[in-house]
Amino acid sequence: MSAREDNPLDVKMPPLKITCTSVDCEHNLHCFLKRRGMRVEDHGSCRACGAKLVDWRRLHRRDPKDTENTFKSLKFETIRHHMWHVPLDEDALRKAYNQGRTKLHADVVSRLRSSIGKAAGGFDGRQTPMQGRAVYYAQHATATCCRKCLEYWHGIPKDRPLTDKELAYATILVQAYLDDRLPDLDDDPTPKALQKKTKRKETLGYK
Ligand SMILES: [Zn+2]
Ligand SMILES: [Zn+2]
Repeated sequence: MSAREDNPLDVKMPPLKITCTSVDCEHNLHCFLKRRGMRVEDHGSCRACGAKLVDWRRLHRRDPKDTENTFKSLKFETIRHHMWHVPLDEDALRKAYNQGRTKLHADVVSRLRSSIGKAAGGFDGRQTPMQGRAVYYAQHATATCCRKCLEYWHGIPKDRPLTDKELAYATILVQAYLDDRLPDLDDDPTPKALQKKTKRKETLGYK
């Protein structure tokens, strides 16, 4: 992975404004969303530098046993990398600890169904906030935030509702992200855990 990946200092301060099409190609952070007018043979390469880093056929198989490669690939895209590493906001953390892992996981399906279950409409691309709940971070990080991202990352056409199998796959990705980012979350609600965590952060600095 890039040097950036290994250096926590680089992810401490989020860039001023990250959008879906942000790139930082020098740091191996790209955007694979196709540009208008892009040649068909260039689809799937970085829209800014042309880097070909993702095995799209492998990604589009949507194999739940291949998530390690899927996550590695997602992190080559600036917006995903950012959402994978940026500290979750206080509100999102508080809600997660108030819910506990079991409830947090259980809520994922209904959140995915309501945000991306239907075919893409005019609101597509704006249905998932950037902060406020851990699941929002998870959706951006795993490209399950909108039907456009779901289409190019996971090969699911955006003009029809999701099948149960596709929804189940998206759920696995989101839950895996939540476990990765909140490794000390108990199954049951533990509002106190957050207080301890916040205090520790204050004493020790970031992380
Ligand atoms: Zn690039
Ligand atoms: Zn999206």
